[in-house]
Amino acid sequence: MKIIVIGAGSVGAHIAYRLQEQGASVQLLEAGSRARGTSRSSFAWLSSFPQRAWDEEPGRAALRPTVHPRFHELVDELGGDWMHWNGTLAWGAPDERASLRELAETCLTRGVTLEILNADDVRSRIGGLEIADDDEFVYEAGSGWVDAPALVDRLLARFVELGGILREQTTVAEFIRTGDTVTGAVTASGEQIEADAVINAAGSWGSHIAALAGVALPVNLVPGLMVYTDPVDPALVPRSVMNSPTWLVRPHPTGGLAIHWRGSAMTATHGANGWSPERIVADVAKTIPALNGVGVADARIGIRPIPPGGPIVGALPWTPGLYHVLSHGGIGWGPIWADLVARELLDGESVAELTAMRPNRFYLQTPELGRFADDFEQAGLSRL
Ligand SMILES: Cc1cc2nc3c(=O)[nH]c(=O)nc-3n(C[C@H](O)[C@H](O)[C@H](O)COP(=O)(O)OP(=O)(O)OC[C@H]3O[C@@H](n4cnc5c(N)ncnc54)[C@H](O)[C@@H]3O)c2cc1C
Repeated sequence: MKIIVIGAGSVGAHIAYRLQEQGASVQLLEAGSRARGTSRSSFAWLSSFPQRAWDEEPGRAALRPTVHPRFHELVDELGGDWMHWNGTLAWGAPDERASLRELAETCLTRGVTLEILNADDVRSRIGGLEIADDDEFVYEAGSGWVDAPALVDRLLARFVELGGILREQTTVAEFIRTGDTVTGAVTASGEQIEADAVINAAGSWGSHIAALAGVALPVNLVPGLMVYTDPVDPALVPRSVMNSPTWLVRPHPTGGLAIHWRGSAMTATHGANGWSPERIVADVAKTIPALNGVGVADARIGIRPIPPGGPIVGALPWTPGLYHVLSHGGIGWGPIWADLVARELLDGESVAELTAMRPNRFYLQTPELGRFADDFEQAGLSRL
């Protein structure tokens, strides 16, 4: 089976590798360079806390506990130094402690291994932290973070070894159609590439790719700020992921720390959300004193692709041949989507867990008038 995958981020790299490994002939087309989209500026955290405290639709809830075991298998399958199972320490603002404990207790009843710790427990286990005596913490030992660009490199090296074709600087600009069916892609330079199936794994660009086939798929674009510090002495900073009320911090492969700044509620002047990267590092240094005086190496805004109501996985019945995989959490979910796409496209299965993620859900909803400024004009026109 000949398959085109559009987008060499985390999602597209997993899918291209898995399909090639299971016998398909895959061409992976990437407009820029591999892992330079959202996957480059992701916090890339793998945690079951607090994710498994949420109520999810049954399909995703059934798949979620498979994410960590699948990463353990991938480490053995691919080799390389891209997975860091160094645990996560989480704590809440004083007025959030009760809800933090409630989340932890829900996770415990759902089989997540967690410990609830006090400040002395934390001091004895994790050095380099300035914390209050009355803080309460949740520690998840079996969690960690992924060096996403390194994993994408590893996946693509294996993909190419297996005979897969990776083409960077190759933008998909059009689709080839045979009747309604998508039977290939046309690149910006006009090259026509035929295929039995085309997969839209373009992340934040996913709506644009869908639109090339006349398909309207909504994807909310939610920016997030990442700040990367200059190198720090590894002996003086925690190796675990730190999940505080306003920021997440983890080590970064360049030897500094990666900070995902969540900020606080927006105000008329943007409040803390308008802070400079230097001021953010200074704020984190109140808890991790080794960061005092450490410079900012880089700051980037990553754009999260978040389809309303959860991931989009599947094809629309009226555009067969074009399969979409657009998902937030695409670092953690990448290998899971890849396995399920292989089962659907190569084995002809319809995976029950994906039922609520099908793209036709958007066409089954009645649009609400008044959502957009021009809806009234449209309503007026329809009455003429
Ligand atoms: C601040 C932040 C924190 C995050 N934290 C986490 C986390 O802790 N855990 C987690 O799992 N996820 C996290 N995410 C989300 C995660 O990073 C994304 O879901 C994931 O990176 C999306 O991967 P992707 O492959 O779908 O998209 P991308 O990595 O953006 O890849 C899409 C690719 O498609 C290419 N493309 C676009 N148009 C075309 C075209 N016409 N032709 C060819 N190629 C095209 C682009 O160039 C790009 O390389 C976070 C995101 C952000 C921003």
